[in-house]
Amino acid sequence: MKHLTAFFLTFFASFTLCCGQITDPKATEVWQPEPRVVTPGQGTKPPSDAIVLFNGTGFSEWVSLKDSAAAVSWNLARDSSMTVQPGTGDIMTKRVFGDCQLHLEFRTPLVVKGEGQGRGNSGVFLQDRYEVQVLDSYQNRTYSNGQCASIYKQTIPLVNACRPPGEWQTYDILFTAPRFNADGILLMPGRVTVIQNGVVVQMNTEIKGTTEYIGLPRTEAHGKAPIRLQDHGDLVSYRNIWLREL
Ligand code: MG
Repeated sequence: MKHLTAFFLTFFASFTLCCGQITDPKATEVWQPEPRVVTPGQGTKPPSDAIVLFNGTGFSEWVSLKDSAAAVSWNLARDSSMTVQPGTGDIMTKRVFGDCQLHLEFRTPLVVKGEGQGRGNSGVFLQDRYEVQVLDSYQNRTYSNGQCASIYKQTIPLVNACRPPGEWQTYDILFTAPRFNADGILLMPGRVTVIQNGVVVQMNTEIKGTTEYIGLPRTEAHGKAPIRLQDHGDLVSYRNIWLREL
């Protein structure tokens, strides 16, 4: 209250009677609220307020999509990564999320096999529904709205920023969840920005609904939901996954 009063006093005092212009630079200073301090990450260390979803030590934050009571049977490696165990199905976080900043690193197999959608395919599903495609799109043509960093079957990435197979790549994803009213009607679509290897590949892209393999996106009302990683039968690896709730 004290701050507010001081602000308004300064604000009104700074108007000149003749022309209504602000002449005092202090009049436009805002001091409250003050942003809280977050210690930035460094190397593989996440920012201080991040939720660590995977750091190589285990699957304590994850469950299997097929059977949430069963242990995740993707493979842990000594280099602090995990790799899809084909046939065991997708895995998803135990926790549910809304608006967030998600960081993860992925690697498509060094030994290239298959082509198009059959090469290094996986995916990051935001809120269990909206897939940011993971694919080996390094010199591997497929439909543009299904290549790496596409919003699957919806939005083509701005550029192809893929590293060669076998190299670690980063996704930094900024996600605004869709808003629904109490009747389940969409009030505001979700939006997503994706930075791949430091390159913007999706810029505030509107999410049109669920990312379907066959057919059009569907709109379905939902609240917070898990992050899901896809088992598409390829030996895609992940490491260093963290998330900040926004
Ligand atoms: Mg996929």
